[in-house]
Amino acid sequence: MIKIDKLHKSYEMGSSSLHVLKGIDFNVEAGELVAIMGSSGSGKSTLLNILGMLDNADDGTYDLDEMRIENLDEKTAAEYRNKFLGFIFQSFNLINYKSALENVALPLYYQGLKRKDRQKIALEYLDKVGLKNWSTHHPSELSGGQKQRVAIARALASNPKVLLADEPTGALDSTTSMEVMALIQKINNEGKTILVVTHEHDIAMMCKRVVNLKDGVIVEDKKVKQNIIKNV
Ligand code: ADP
Ligand code: MG
Repeated sequence: MIKIDKLHKSYEMGSSSLHVLKGIDFNVEAGELVAIMGSSGSGKSTLLNILGMLDNADDGTYDLDEMRIENLDEKTAAEYRNKFLGFIFQSFNLINYKSALENVALPLYYQGLKRKDRQKIALEYLDKVGLKNWSTHHPSELSGGQKQRVAIARALASNPKVLLADEPTGALDSTTSMEVMALIQKINNEGKTILVVTHEHDIAMMCKRVVNLKDGVIVEDKKVKQNIIKNV
């Protein structure tokens, strides 16, 4: 599903340059649930942003679903993002003046679906994350865990090939983090490929494979015994 080879990324700042990714190789098969771990500043978000076509690598190759991602103009990149990728962020990134339903329906608008179809599909996904009865509520009326579930419904609505989550539990307490990870496990068990960036070991162990980043390289990449969350 994802193949990256010798990926490099530096940030230029005035006369100095910060080499953040120093030759990253890894493959993700369809259906995997992978944690990308590393301390703050280790380049996790940089890597995820490249995988999410929000940023470009300086060197190396990236194939997504057997398609080479390179030299895309903004418009094509946006199209691919919409079609192939769903994003979940630490800070939810919901639109505050829109209802839960409207937030989930938004990616479908960009796919050109009619209003009625958008609303029907959005409601199905809200139901899937257990928030059908909250569809008319605005983000300010929702708890952190509910907001993240709306964001997950939004990420799923366009039926992407891959979900990319950057510290999805970073703004949540531990009980709510478990709820969100239980939902991520459920979605993965239904077949979705998911990458979760985290700096928390407990969260990483809820995935099926852990990739450790340090000083710009992968220092460890192993399958783990998944801590399956029950009864939340
Ligand atoms: P992580 O997500 O693991 O905390 P990041 O990928 O956000 O790490 O950042 C890796 C390093 O790159 C950090 O030192 C950070 O300060 C730096 N960095 C990230 N984004 C930029 C940017 N746009 N310009 C300059 N430096 C950046
Ligand atoms: Mg980060």
